[in-house]
Amino acid sequence: MRILFLDQSGKPGGAELCLIDIAKPYGDRALVGLFADGPFKDLLKQNHIPVEVLATQAIQVRKESSLVQGLKSLGQLAPLITKVVKKAREYDLIYANTQKALVVGALASFFSSRPLVYHLHDILSKEHFSQTNLRIAVNLANRFASLVIANSQASQTAFVQAGGRRNIIEVVYNGFDPKTYQTDESDINKLQQQLELEGKFVVGHFSRLAPWKGQHILIDALAKCPQEVTAILVGDALFGEQDYVQQLHQQVAELGLENRVKFLGFRSDIPQLIAACDLIAHTSTSPEPFGRVIVEAMLCGKPVVAAKAGGAIELVKHGLNGFLVTPGKPQELAQVIITCLQETEITATIANNARIIASERFDIAIINQQITQLLSHITSA
Ligand code: UDP
Repeated sequence: MRILFLDQSGKPGGAELCLIDIAKPYGDRALVGLFADGPFKDLLKQNHIPVEVLATQAIQVRKESSLVQGLKSLGQLAPLITKVVKKAREYDLIYANTQKALVVGALASFFSSRPLVYHLHDILSKEHFSQTNLRIAVNLANRFASLVIANSQASQTAFVQAGGRRNIIEVVYNGFDPKTYQTDESDINKLQQQLELEGKFVVGHFSRLAPWKGQHILIDALAKCPQEVTAILVGDALFGEQDYVQQLHQQVAELGLENRVKFLGFRSDIPQLIAACDLIAHTSTSPEPFGRVIVEAMLCGKPVVAAKAGGAIELVKHGLNGFLVTPGKPQELAQVIITCLQETEITATIANNARIIASERFDIAIINQQITQLLSHITSA
């Protein structure tokens, strides 16, 4: 099966990292067509996945854009759609990995008579999308997609609630290669030295910097914890959230936490950094569609505390393989951090449970088999 993957982003967010794992087994039978140049292209190349940047101009529509703004961008899309239609004829299937990719992919599917699959990595709700964008996504998926792959039941439910057809959507969780998360102890010691983390209780936060990812909640929680508790914030503002970054630095200064919070920016050594932490915090204030970092923490054998909403609830059972706290409540988060600091034995047991369960449940080989099976139904239909 030959697959034309489409993704709008030049930067590697969760959806893009997931795409790497799905496209990899197809080798030269896949092409990833991007709508923007950037580090994601380099990452695909490093993974030997054929990639082409199909749009030279960034598409201006944002998740919260209005209908007028959307219509204005149609002219801009015409050359891109023409290119994608031509490419699609060389492939058996179009696989749209993002919302803008769905728009282009739907039209390309129509003109090239190739089936369309939409991988839904978002919770399609008004919290994240404008009414116009919600309607466009749902209507295009309903009309053109043979299959929608939702990254969690939470994403599936939101799709159906927004008017999406129940009979075209299947849940497939993100897959991970457990080997990637086995780290070398001496590397971790070096990293801890470099980052001056030795002797501290380190809470790691791994996410792009954006208000709804809730880094500010962790900073507030830290102020309520003993001095030895420090935090590393790993990730960058990928989509222009510079005001929030400034706000976070200001919050750290106001709370006098300069020596207890480190901003590390975007990093590609995530397994090593997770292994250098004592606890991983996920603090999204809006429901998280999936929450890759929660599974990554589990695979590294590190305890994880997550905000109790969206996909995170499907990944974490409180007290069995992690901890859940009410989103947006620093006091509750601080309480869990202190419990993990003090109750080391029970916390280690929970982290170990999580590693065992996650290694089986999210094994990339099994997840990729599920996807291949779903796709082969479509191409043989
Ligand atoms: N990540 C990364 N480098 C960073 C911060 C995050 O590679 O500096 C990765 C992280 O390990 C995870 C992904 O980015 O695999 C984020 O996925 P998630 O589902 O947590 O959030 P999303 O970006 O999709 O909203």
